[in-house]
Amino acid sequence: MTKLIYLNDTYLSTLNATIINELNDANGLAIIVDRTIFYPQGGGQPSDVGFIKSESATYKVSSVRLNDSGLVLHYGEYIEGTFTMGQQINLSIDLDKRIVNARVHSAGHLLDCAVSSLDLAHLKPSKGFHFPEGPYVEYEGVLENKNDWINPIQEKINDLVKENIQISNYSLSFEEAAQKNIWAPAGKSARVVDFEGFDGCGCGGTHVLNSSEIGEISIRKIKVKKGVTRIAYALK
Ligand SMILES: [Zn+2]
Repeated sequence: MTKLIYLNDTYLSTLNATIINELNDANGLAIIVDRTIFYPQGGGQPSDVGFIKSESATYKVSSVRLNDSGLVLHYGEYIEGTFTMGQQINLSIDLDKRIVNARVHSAGHLLDCAVSSLDLAHLKPSKGFHFPEGPYVEYEGVLENKNDWINPIQEKINDLVKENIQISNYSLSFEEAAQKNIWAPAGKSARVVDFEGFDGCGCGGTHVLNSSEIGEISIRKIKVKKGVTRIAYALK
């Protein structure tokens, strides 16, 4: 398994690690290291991009995935030289992109907080898409008079931004998580992302430290289809 260092620190942009494998699969060439700061695409959040470098080689990372064995696959291409197994290398991510991704992801969770504080508890968060282009959260349940809710939700979420709510994370065992109705990978511990004062949410993404770091949010559109309400948002 690759150690997922990004879970502990959203803002860590470089890290030394060791090459443990290199392989080719349907997605192309992949480098595997013992620990990583690269976020693998998943949970509605895009992967990080950046570089892996040794003294004589440079590899450009263009997409990242986590496989079923818990290994992080860094897909990309060599720009110069090649690595050898066991070699010490340095990882560096594009921190500006990472922070945008973290702000967009945290905004999606803050939308859940806004929805629950507006007495819309019949809307249950089901799926989030937190890419910078066109992010949204889907809720199971129908929001009646949807267009009347755009302004109240927007006002509420921006109030929560201004309240500077602390965002933290902690782990729960699979059983503890199940008791609290929090999602966890089958048989594994849950990582809970917690906005102070609101229900925690099972999530493996990267988040900013507090709601004010997200900045102003606009609610773009609310769509209701087949019992699902989709609320699209954007950062300003
Ligand atoms: Zn999340």
